Amino acid sequence: MENKRKPYQLVSREWKKENTIIKLKNTSIGGGNISLIAGPCAVENEDQIFTICEFLSKQNVKILRGGAYKPRTSPYSFQGLKKDGLILMRNAADKYGMSVITEVMDTNLVEEVYQYADILQVGTRNMQNYQLLRALSKIDKPVMLKRGMSSTMEEWLLAAEYILSGGNDKVMLCERGIRTFENATRNTLDLGIVPLLKSVSHLPVIVDPSQGTGLREIVVPMSMAAVLAGADGVMVEVHNQPEEALSDGDQSLYFDQFNDLVTKLKRTAKVLDKNLDLESEKILA
Ligand code: PEP
Ligand code: MN
Repeated sequence: MENKRKPYQLVSREWKKENTIIKLKNTSIGGGNISLIAGPCAVENEDQIFTICEFLSKQNVKILRGGAYKPRTSPYSFQGLKKDGLILMRNAADKYGMSVITEVMDTNLVEEVYQYADILQVGTRNMQNYQLLRALSKIDKPVMLKRGMSSTMEEWLLAAEYILSGGNDKVMLCERGIRTFENATRNTLDLGIVPLLKSVSHLPVIVDPSQGTGLREIVVPMSMAAVLAGADGVMVEVHNQPEEALSDGDQSLYFDQFNDLVTKLKRTAKVLDKNLDLESEKILA
């Protein structure tokens, strides 16, 4: 297997031995510490995003997640606040000195999302949208490429290769669960792929156990498992009122569950001689 030529190149360990470290203004991803990215599935209103952001800032979370353009399975579901959501999220993050990650769903939105985001997320439904990947290869901000829900590792790495080969090497991968016969969980979180990716690629690997399981009660143990499997970070959904959430309420952590997650991830990171990236200085806006 070792000698077989791989179809991808720039994303491979053979091409680049050292881990890729993605630098943001207040932190970095892939540098040895465990990143914790958190926030609601979707930005819903000013009060919601500021309440969640303030809560997360007390734990010194560095990166706020939240969708403004939401790729919903049903056209009748809440589609996101769009540009207003981007603005609200940016303002909340700036108030608490945090970075912003949010999804870009379409090529014609790259410019707009770029203005407000520090990391642009490609969702599972768009992993093989090659026009979008090409557009993102031309920007100078980091991209988080989620795994297509039915994509193999090779297809995923080739999608990442599109972004690197176009000129953007600030790419991180996000395992968010795949489609299997199992329907007790929303998706099957493929944690086996994490150490394999770390061996074949130099790109940082993030795990999203919220989309990966669909059930808030198992987000904490799966986050711990992700860290032990070698992930560079986890991304979780948190909500001030999960039962009222306009999307993905069932998988959104309550605040006390998030506090429990922080405690447990700190301990888990220590097992590997790593730190959860919450302690260091943050830059206040
Ligand atoms: C999300 O992060 O809210 C999301 C829609 O993710 P995915 O593309 O993995 O479903
Ligand atoms: Mn979601």
